[in-house]
Amino acid sequence: MIQITGLATALLTAFVFFVAIFGRYVLFSLVFWWLFKVSMKDQFSHRAVQTRPRKANQNWREIGWSMVTSLIFSGIALGVIWAYQKGYTKIYTDFSSYSLIWYPVSIGLVLLIHETYYYWLHRWMHWPGVYKWVHKTHHDSITTSPWTAFSFHPIESTLQAIIIPALTFILPLHISAVGLILIIMTLSSAVNHLNTEVYPHDFDKHWLGRWLIGATHHSLHHTQFRFNYGLYFTFWDKWMRTESPDFHQLFSKKSQKIRQE
Ligand SMILES: [Zn+2]
Ligand SMILES: [Zn+2]
Repeated sequence: MIQITGLATALLTAFVFFVAIFGRYVLFSLVFWWLFKVSMKDQFSHRAVQTRPRKANQNWREIGWSMVTSLIFSGIALGVIWAYQKGYTKIYTDFSSYSLIWYPVSIGLVLLIHETYYYWLHRWMHWPGVYKWVHKTHHDSITTSPWTAFSFHPIESTLQAIIIPALTFILPLHISAVGLILIIMTLSSAVNHLNTEVYPHDFDKHWLGRWLIGATHHSLHHTQFRFNYGLYFTFWDKWMRTESPDFHQLFSKKSQKIRQE
């Protein structure tokens, strides 16, 4: 683990975090963009959820905001490392410190807590007085793309970023579990903003699929604004009756058989 001893080391560590966080976003978004918008474009063209053309320079605007978001995430990560070195967090590095079953349970628990935090934060961010200051930047993208994944106003990025670091003070989390959660978060955001439905037909009725958010589900949030507030899972939207009434019909249409050509 890198020791933070002085300002220069702290800045260098923050820079390494920035390269890792922004690099991960670029890598995931680039892979999804290349796969579904270039390489298999023809096979998946009928699965494009929103067909309205994207605004000029929208990719670069989203990448710019995502860079700012990555800077904020890096600053917060630096704070967590500092707290870890001081012994304030419950992050552990030795697998034998806790039962092995705790490892997957801790990841699941963090995702469920993150979902709950995000759902209610997201509902709050849609309040008219809050929306234009905090959340409008993200909604400037009506037709989303993998580049939209981290495109947030700095206030929203900060509010989103604090929950997982906060949990490291409460729940014992293996250092690799924290890394895995951050990878799941980035992957999920890239899939949800892809604007190409990649799930199989009828996955919205599948015992597991019905609980997972995907491109069609989240695209409806960007076009309808008042439905589908979830992050990874659909349960809060189902319980609070904020799932779009158009979701299942649109999903059925956008998850038709992949063309073989
Ligand atoms: Zn929103
Ligand atoms: Zn979004």
